[in-house]
Amino acid sequence: MTAETSAARHEPDATSGPAAVDAAVAEARAAQPWWDGLGFAGRKKALDAWRVLILRRAEELIDLIRAETGKTADDARLEVILVADHLRWAAAHAGRVLGRRRVPSGLLMFNQSATVEHRALGVVGVIGPWNYPAFIPVGPVSAALAAGNTVVFKPSELTPAVGRWLADTLAEVVRGPAVLRVVTGDGDTGAALCRAAVDKVSFTGSSATGRRVMAACAENLTPVVIEGGGKDAMIVAADADLDAAADAALWAAVSNAGQTCVGLERVYVVAEVAERFLRLVTARAAALRTGDRPDADLGPIVLPRQIEVIKSHVRDAVARGARVVLGGEESFTPPYVAPIVLTDVPEDSVALTEETFGPVLVVNTVATVDEAVDRANASAYGLGASVYTGDRSQGRRIAGRLRAGMVSVNAVIAFAGIPALPFGGVGDSGFGRVHGPDGLREFSRTQAVTSQRFRPLVQPNSFARGPGTMRTLVRMVRALHGR
Ligand code: NAD
Repeated sequence: MTAETSAARHEPDATSGPAAVDAAVAEARAAQPWWDGLGFAGRKKALDAWRVLILRRAEELIDLIRAETGKTADDARLEVILVADHLRWAAAHAGRVLGRRRVPSGLLMFNQSATVEHRALGVVGVIGPWNYPAFIPVGPVSAALAAGNTVVFKPSELTPAVGRWLADTLAEVVRGPAVLRVVTGDGDTGAALCRAAVDKVSFTGSSATGRRVMAACAENLTPVVIEGGGKDAMIVAADADLDAAADAALWAAVSNAGQTCVGLERVYVVAEVAERFLRLVTARAAALRTGDRPDADLGPIVLPRQIEVIKSHVRDAVARGARVVLGGEESFTPPYVAPIVLTDVPEDSVALTEETFGPVLVVNTVATVDEAVDRANASAYGLGASVYTGDRSQGRRIAGRLRAGMVSVNAVIAFAGIPALPFGGVGDSGFGRVHGPDGLREFSRTQAVTSQRFRPLVQPNSFARGPGTMRTLVRMVRALHGR
């Protein structure tokens, strides 16, 4: 936590310079063969024990998350639940997803047995954001560890204590060298980690920083996962359950005070139900409590400079003809921002093109669902999306047309709570996946292995092949595949 933060509660943390980062990576590399050698079963045992310890001491983690981010107790509890569920999934499924798999060897190499293997990469660097300081990094950390890698984790400079707590609790249950090491500091420490001898970097944060991370990783051709920002949209069809849609839209837009990568920032609602939807959302939003109070629904905006971004988005929209349905200038009592609902916002205003990352919901009316899809897809971002409709098959069809890494039909952000589902975006939201089987494979390298079962009758890969060998093989291929 730094003095720059609204929710500052304790002293700034030590900064790890390039030498300290290199040392952490070297130590993680030295520990990796031992950890890999435990096999899937041994690592599962350790990761399961970690999960149990985290849950036993959940109150400590909740307090730390709250102290460093100022988020409400319920928002912090949600993180702990998600941490436990994702950790359990990665540990339980790594062997099935990454274990040796036999594949058919085909005609030409009939005498070979063929297998696909997934090997650990070595050392994975994880760079995390502050908004979900436990849940977000645990995605790549759990997958990387379950796959047999060791990890060097750089938490956000705003949430170093959560990062250290995660590493310390894992060290309590792993009998052996530390397999999760933490380096602390700001972007310079993150850049040093990108340039260190790591085998992959998993970055989560803003898309602007993602570009810098990728540039630094490019110097050593270090592969990278980029989990960037978002501008998620919801489509509300005329036959939708409007009560449910309004309730979900509000929660997705303003929980964690709107500081969620897959938070809802845009709603496209068809004209015939637009006024009713807007009334329902606004009534609910007006009842929420914001501020430094024990029963608050919305905590602080963590970065003071973000308050100016939120304000500039609202002012720009209003100046360009948007209608303020709830809140406005009076919503800003730094570090708090109460919910703001806008409508008729021009599509090219910053409130619709850039990530606002605050409790502002834009509800724009469209003539048809097709228009809603076009507008939702017009964003440079493509992280999550949601669709509300009374017809689930229509919902799936709409989902298929959305340019987003994740879509929920008749729910919001449900995909993030399902550990078996891959998490990630397209476009400015980044690339690569954490969570689910794709997330496990992301932190392994695929190796193709063949092993000869018997000497072949015809040997195509030898100068000793007879004059008729290839002609015979061509005849066989024609007979089998030529029709
Ligand atoms: P940020 O980009 O400011 O920082 C993220 C991390 O990158 C921090 O640890 C920071 O110290 C580090 N960093 C900064 N400069 C760096 C550099 N040059 N090289 C390497 N590392 C560097 O983001 P933030 O403010 O911590 O988090 C909010 C952003 O994260 C929002 O845009 C949000 O949408 C996004 N986010 C995305 C996801 C996702 O899964 N897609 C999840 C959570 C947050």
